[in-house]
Amino acid sequence: MGDAATATRENRTITVDFQDESTYLPLLSDGKAFVEFVVAFLLALGFQLKHKATCHGGGCLTRHSHYARVRLGGLTIWRMQCTTCKAVFTVLPHFVMRYRRMSPDVARQALIATHGGLSLEWCAVICHISPMALYRLICAFGQHSVVMVLTRCGLPLPRYILVDEKHSRCLTDKVYLPTIVRGRVLWHLGYSDAKSAAAFTASYGDFQRVALQIEPSYRVRGALTDGFDSTTQSMRTLFPGARLGYCLRHALNKLPSKLMGVSAPVRKSLRSQFHTLLHRCRQRTSLRVVALGQRLRHFADSIATTVGADHGARVRNWFQAKKAGWYTVLADPRMPASSTLLDQAHNTMDRKLFAMKGFHHRGGSQAVFLTGLAHLYNLIPYQRRALHAGQCGVEVEGGRVPTSDWMLNLQILTSGGFR
Ligand SMILES: [Zn+2]
Repeated sequence: MGDAATATRENRTITVDFQDESTYLPLLSDGKAFVEFVVAFLLALGFQLKHKATCHGGGCLTRHSHYARVRLGGLTIWRMQCTTCKAVFTVLPHFVMRYRRMSPDVARQALIATHGGLSLEWCAVICHISPMALYRLICAFGQHSVVMVLTRCGLPLPRYILVDEKHSRCLTDKVYLPTIVRGRVLWHLGYSDAKSAAAFTASYGDFQRVALQIEPSYRVRGALTDGFDSTTQSMRTLFPGARLGYCLRHALNKLPSKLMGVSAPVRKSLRSQFHTLLHRCRQRTSLRVVALGQRLRHFADSIATTVGADHGARVRNWFQAKKAGWYTVLADPRMPASSTLLDQAHNTMDRKLFAMKGFHHRGGSQAVFLTGLAHLYNLIPYQRRALHAGQCGVEVEGGRVPTSDWMLNLQILTSGGFR
């Protein structure tokens, strides 16, 4: 937990897949074979160990010591030391979880149930663990940054992103979850109790900081938002050169609210005209922005003549305020046009957060818990009947996961000892 004395020591625990407990046990008595196995595992993954900053040793390891873990029925865990920088790596076999009595199989069942939308309480009942143990387990994975884990899977940092905040509640307080999505992967799921530009900038800044550590020249080229002021401002502050677009589907859904007092069938028909208008513009290969400008003008005029001048004026003002963001979407074909994939991610999170109200309290570890949920979202494969059945979000986006077992991937990728 948040102990200052232990926090200063680097976590260099790595999870290694020994395939079988019966492979692990004989290796324990053969130091050379053990080290060779671990090195081969690292090579296969293409990962490097996190040595001390001064180390140029290039991954030389020796057996350092071993100690018995009494808690796990006397299971022996090895620690290995770099001969150059003296960094010590703790090697956890895949069938043990760091600092946890819970077996990975129990954790797997509980995590998949909670990912599927079952409440923490029910997951705990089914798996015979305490709800708090499950909460802490998710928080433990959430100690590791999403950006770090995704880049370990070989995903490039996202140049075009979807950005929005999920509105949620912490007991009676309104809270916000600033979110960054690229395709089917969550790159950031933050937590903020204010909806100011400053608060959002701080949250999205967490994402930017880790991304810049990984790639100092990282720049966002385009971001799609729903046009909310604080979101747009925070994007301008953090990514000054990025194109900022507004979601077209969001615009579509907003139109009826600009026509208050107009009968439902008329609003519906205008919405569908607006849909056709946006769709036609997107289909054009050239002069899309010019076409959109013209069509928006005509559409506002026709609303003024058919429904009334005041409605026409209101819609025209709205177009005026938003059209720059829509132009941006049309001007760059690489810009995402709608935030549907982000809404899907938010709906998934919503189900989980709703199911765990009892654990949502002011003193909780919301940020790490949410990060843990984001890992599950990215790494748990889609179910049998889904479009990308059997693949996880990371794989759908072209990333590579270490093994075919998502639970093992979660353990390996959130190991503290990899660089
Ligand atoms: Zn070293």
